Amino acid sequence: MEPSLRVAACSSRLGIDLDALRANYRAIAERVAPARCGAVVKANAYGLGVARVGAALYREGCRDFFVAQLCEVGPLARVVGSDAAIVILNGLDPESEAVCAAVGAIPVLNSLLQVARWRAHARALGRPLPAALQVDSGMSRLGLPPGDAVALAADPVLPRELDLRLLMTHLACADEPGRAANGDQLAAFRAVAAHFPDVPASIANSGGVFLPADFHADLARPGVALFGVDPGPNAQGLCPVVRLDARVLQIRTIEAGTGVGYGLDHIAPAPQRLATIALGYADGWPRCLGGGGAAWHRGARLPIVGRVSMDSLTVDIGALAENDLAEGDFVELLGPSQSLAGVARDAGTIAYEILTRLGARHARIHVENGIADAVLPGENP
Ligand SMILES: *Cc1c(COP(=O)(O)O)cnc(C)c1O
Repeated sequence: MEPSLRVAACSSRLGIDLDALRANYRAIAERVAPARCGAVVKANAYGLGVARVGAALYREGCRDFFVAQLCEVGPLARVVGSDAAIVILNGLDPESEAVCAAVGAIPVLNSLLQVARWRAHARALGRPLPAALQVDSGMSRLGLPPGDAVALAADPVLPRELDLRLLMTHLACADEPGRAANGDQLAAFRAVAAHFPDVPASIANSGGVFLPADFHADLARPGVALFGVDPGPNAQGLCPVVRLDARVLQIRTIEAGTGVGYGLDHIAPAPQRLATIALGYADGWPRCLGGGGAAWHRGARLPIVGRVSMDSLTVDIGALAENDLAEGDFVELLGPSQSLAGVARDAGTIAYEILTRLGARHARIHVENGIADAVLPGENP
């Protein structure tokens, strides 16, 4: 079937601009050079599809990839070359050692227990296993206390069992350049890193990329900035990667006093022109945007009225001229008029959450090298 006809089966279209993604990777890589630039593609590449995103970043030169869990390694490994390293940020789960070693992934060892289990597996295999070591420099989330890491550095047997590829830490406040915690964490991490002079160091997520060069260390680990989200006040010039459009299902005019949607939460104060849009909370549109957020069309803001349903929401189209919008037309939910950050602000959350929840029901339109292709729900990317 013709691509355009297949796409008609979906009432919403999620545009994923892989050229913009690659431009963002290039810009960040230039910014952190001579440090290397990796890419965090956990959670299915922040919801955008790890197969296409991983392949595009590999083509752009990325060789250091980060996922959160071992189950995320396979779909990424299939689309990148064997010279790419895949690091598992959440660590080494019990009973996963054999699978982790077999796929050649690099677990981040976050606790002494994980270190001991990975070393035991290395002894059983009779060869050193690749590993990253995380130091908790002050965030209290994951990683070894500095003292435990320093003690490991003094263990003469360690290099025979672990091939340490990376020493890393994570910043709690990288998106707030003015916070003293950033400098405190840098100092705490450097004190440990001095004991591992031959192991590459990594500190910066997207926010850290826009902190001073000290924070770039040997390898940066940006995630959200690759997808065009500004990670803090110093970030500028990133290209938007996603856009989301959804069809108008129906248009109606209601009399003053008429209720709209579940619970009839909205009562028209005056005659009102409404459009029902094919996008709901099952598509990742936050339900809390009922009565708060908006869609956009031809530069006009179309406020959401009433509750967001599972498969639809209703907007006031009074700002548009009569024939500006018809049944079947598309309105913009994310794009030039409305950013991820804007939607996040309206929903009282962060752009990461909006992005990672965008849902599986949209037709995904990828653009790479200027060429568009569509993937429908359930199809292989
Ligand atoms: C998610 C994550 C990143 C990437 O964070 P962004 O803010 O999306 O750049 C980097 N490092 C670790 C340890 C993470 O968990």
